Amino acid sequence: MNERDSEQVASMFLAGGYELTQDEAEADIILINTCSVREKAELKALGKMGLLCARPTAKPWVVYGFMGCMSQSRGASIFREVPRVDVVTGTRQYHNVYRICNRLLRSRLEQGITEPLRKGAHICSTEHEDGFQNAIRDHLPSTGSCTAFVSIMQGCEMRCSYCIVPSTRGEECSRPAADIMQEVRELVQNGIKEVTLLGQIVNRYGKDEPAVNGRSAFVRLLEDLHEIDGLERIRFTSPHPIGFRQDLVNAYTYLPKLCSHIHFPMQSGSDRILQLMRRPYKNEKYLKLCEDMRAARPDLAITTDIIVGFPGETDEDYAQTKAAVERIQFDNAFIFQYSPRRDTVAAAMENQICLRVKEERNHDLLEVVNRIATARNHALVGSQQTILVEGPSKNNPERLQGRTSQNKPVIIPGDSAEIGSIIPVRITECTGFTLYGEVKK
Ligand code: SAH
Ligand code: SF4
Repeated sequence: MNERDSEQVASMFLAGGYELTQDEAEADIILINTCSVREKAELKALGKMGLLCARPTAKPWVVYGFMGCMSQSRGASIFREVPRVDVVTGTRQYHNVYRICNRLLRSRLEQGITEPLRKGAHICSTEHEDGFQNAIRDHLPSTGSCTAFVSIMQGCEMRCSYCIVPSTRGEECSRPAADIMQEVRELVQNGIKEVTLLGQIVNRYGKDEPAVNGRSAFVRLLEDLHEIDGLERIRFTSPHPIGFRQDLVNAYTYLPKLCSHIHFPMQSGSDRILQLMRRPYKNEKYLKLCEDMRAARPDLAITTDIIVGFPGETDEDYAQTKAAVERIQFDNAFIFQYSPRRDTVAAAMENQICLRVKEERNHDLLEVVNRIATARNHALVGSQQTILVEGPSKNNPERLQGRTSQNKPVIIPGDSAEIGSIIPVRITECTGFTLYGEVKK
């Protein structure tokens, strides 16, 4: 989601005549988009900004800014932590970042600043603006990519007891379907073959609209997108068991463009912990949904998020999480050590778990997850898969990388296909998380 929001900001700078650079020394404006979900992410962003601001050889007029969740949550207090920061903009202000930074840079260039500034301009902009959910809609002009993220809603109203997102991202607001359709049509005209729909609880898209013929607004959006000629693949992230009904399970039977992968956060396998987390479902409901989806789409790959060391998590609770992982046989899982977040209910709970136990459980669960994930990948050797060829492999630009419908990366010889093509491959080898394939000519 942050990547997508950053893309919106970058596209506005490009439209204003700026260029993107990967080189910090060259940049006149440096923005860091921030995540607040875990404390580590915030500390990393603050640390990086501190280093950037302290560069002795930097151009003195550089505009430094923070965007996103940490800005929303910490606001102007960030200026006390890193005084040289100029701009702090929140999660409903992405569309204003360009205007604010451009004006500041131009005034500094006009002033002809030659001495390093010790203190920034300290502009803080975190207010709510109506319609902001529809402001994440521009994409970078063709970068040769064949996949794109599409933001379909903003915010979250769930109040999971551990989570800072409702306070940083605010209430749920969905975009009009017609705007989303238009955006995707334009992407397809520019060579995009695959879109990933984004929302904190993406299946709650349009939650206030009544179901039509038993189909939720989200499922109707999937059906409408499915009709777009030239769009080959549809993904979405992240779904939540709440509001995940049979119509969405059924969608896997009649929407072939819907990819055979779902990232479906489980958080915990213990009902007691789920209740303390204020996740409004029992683990059995989650497991049953996974099994129903697999019945609808037998090759479905399922990945998940799991928190270990939530306050009060006993060995027994943890064992239930492990058992759930064994039962579902996830294709992969992100395991997070519980991180207390400011102004959340869980941060004030007694029985906080010590770091040693969190680390032990993290390590132990990672072994289980990796064993299962590796076995599932190895089982694909010898099979035929269809991949979308995305571009050069990151590790070896001589080769190409594509992805299966299950979202598994496959490396193929560099001269065997065109970027953006969807081709059949035979999987010949598997090393850990990477598959290698050959292309039949
Ligand atoms: N909206 C998504 C999750 C978004 S946050 C959902 O509800 O499914 C991404 C992941 O970060 C969560 O799934 C959770 O596993 C993890 N997370 C959130 N808050 C956390 C915290 N305080 N400590 C550790 N992990 C956390
Ligand atoms: Fe956070 Fe829960 Fe909302 Fe996901 S559903 S963003 S975990 S509050």
